[in-house]
Formats: sequence, C-alpha cells, structure tokens
Amino acid sequence: MSLSSAPSGRDRLRIAIQKNGRLSDPARALLGSCGLSWRESPDRLFCYGDNAAVDLLLVRDDDIPGLIDSGLCDLGIVGRNVLAEQASERVQDGRPGNFREWRALGFGGCRLSLAIPNDRDWQSPAQLQGRRIATSYPALTRAWLQEQGVTADVVVLTGSVEIAPRLGQAEAICDLVSSGATLAANQLKPVCDLLQSEAVLAGPLVELEPELAGTAHMLLRRIDGVLRIRDSKLLMFQAPRDAVAEVLRLLPDAEPPTSFPVDGSELLAMQALCHGVVTWQRLEELKRAGACGLMVLPVERMLA
Ligand code: ATP
Ligand code: ZN
Repeated sequence: MSLSSAPSGRDRLRIAIQKNGRLSDPARALLGSCGLSWRESPDRLFCYGDNAAVDLLLVRDDDIPGLIDSGLCDLGIVGRNVLAEQASERVQDGRPGNFREWRALGFGGCRLSLAIPNDRDWQSPAQLQGRRIATSYPALTRAWLQEQGVTADVVVLTGSVEIAPRLGQAEAICDLVSSGATLAANQLKPVCDLLQSEAVLAGPLVELEPELAGTAHMLLRRIDGVLRIRDSKLLMFQAPRDAVAEVLRLLPDAEPPTSFPVDGSELLAMQALCHGVVTWQRLEELKRAGACGLMVLPVERMLA
C-alpha cells in the first residue's frame, strides 16, 4: 500500500501557479490545452474550474513549494530553480519538505550559473576559496560549494544580484541566466552551471489522497499527451515496399509507423508521428527515397 497525504477535506484539486511573471501565461496555456477552463474571482487570486474539479490559486512563485508542503495546494507549476532551492534549504535545516518534481514541462528554460567579471580568468571552483558570492539561491550555492570542497562567503541578495561585483559586494555571483544578455550588460561571464532549470509540475512526495488522486491522474495523462505532441506532426505518405527501409531511415524521430496496402496498387500507405520539425527539405529527401503523396498534419490531442 502506498502512503497518501493527510486528508484535506477538499474534493477539488487545487493547483498553484504564478500570478504575474514569466511562467503565468505558459502555465495557463498548458492547463488550457489540457481542456480546463476557469472563472476568475474579482481579486484574481482564485480561479474556480468550470468544467473539471480543478481550481487555480494565483500566487508568487516562491510561495508554491510551501503551499504544496502544507497541503493548501495539491500541485503547482514552478521553476525547478525555486523548487530545488527550497528543497535544499529545508534539507540544510534538517526538515525536508513534502514536495518534489512530478514532470518537466519544457518551458521557462534557464540555468543557475556562476559568473565572474569578464576581466578575471577562470580555472576552477577552488579559486572561490575565501571569496564572496552574491546570490538569491543561497541553499543551492552552499550545497554546490560543499560538493566542490570550497569554503566561500555566500552573500544573500533578493534582487539585482548582477551588480554586486561592481558595487564591491562580491567577487562572483550565482544567478539565473537565459540568453546571457544581463550578464554581458554587467561585464560578467558565466563560468559554471549549477542547475539546468525549466518549469515543472510539482506535487507532494506521497500519493494524493484518493478523493484528489483520480483528478490528478487525469490531469497528468492530459499533460503527458500535450507534452508528447508538442512540436509533433503526423506524416502521411505512400511508398513502394522496397523503398520503405530507406524512407524510414530518414525518419529517426518518428514513432514506429502504421502501414497498410493501397487497393489495386503495389504501394503501402503509411503514417508516422514525427517528433522533430518536418521541413520542406526533409519532404524532398523522402520523395527522392521513393515516398509520394506526402502530407504533414498537425496533431491536436493524443491519449496514449
Ligand atoms: P514572483 O513575483 O512570482 O516572485 P519572480 O520575479 O520571482 O516572480 P520571474 O522573473 O517571473 O519570477 O521568473 C519566474 C521563473 O521563470 C524563474 O523562477 C525561472 O524558473 C524562470 N526563468 C526563465 N528564464 C529566466 C530568466 N532569464 N531570469 C529569471 N527567471 C527565468
Ligand atoms: Zn519569485
């Protein structure tokens, strides 16, 4: 028997998402593609699910792990960076949190990187010994320093970490980087990545209580379907039997195709779900390999 969460007294699943910020729109879009819709409350903190027993709580991203930990929310969509920082902080305090990553969601990509001034050379983490590192991610930074066997002073800042070296507050920083433009604008260069991050679906360590688990599994199945077909296309074509092997060699990113004979012809009709981009060039290569009647179709929904 698996462990399940303490009873919440609720029979509607509650998901915490970021109210305003980089993850708000893509999180809503993802849940929307799972067929969910909501009525928003006037204060825009709570959205009541219209067509399923799933409600949203709109909060600051930093509050999401704690809301899951306390059982006030069942699931959340949050950056792995925030989840990992709060998990690490709780572990360092000796009271591990009841939350973990359930699914990587493929948006909000960034990395937590160590950066130093452009005019400094980088050899290895050992050169940070006795130095100051400014960051909003103290727990992850401390854990990484410990792994490296380096003792450094972690200076905790909540914003504008990138200006700390110029202000003389630190010799290095540890901050989120996506394009690297902010670092470059502050004459800093990334030298080492501590964490590859993206938005994740977070949930408790244990199974949800039975009243909520059914709805959560329905949502997970839909999320998996949406993630699986994101950037996927259905490719339909015909090919003579003796060309099939060569055609399939050109489709390494496709699921095993379905094929059936075409009435009154030597050709096979085939269809394959392709997970990569199907460019004109690829279609032309497939045609040269013997395929004909090529069609690329969008995939709207998928239930495995
Ligand atoms: P809140 O008001 O909810 O606390 P915030 O200012 O902490 O918002 P955002 O700047 O909206 O958060 O970032 C949310 C998440 O987006 C980050 O935690 C991270 O996972 C992801 N992200 C992706 N690229 C970047 C980036 N270049 N800088 C910061 N966060 C990024
Ligand atoms: Zn935040």
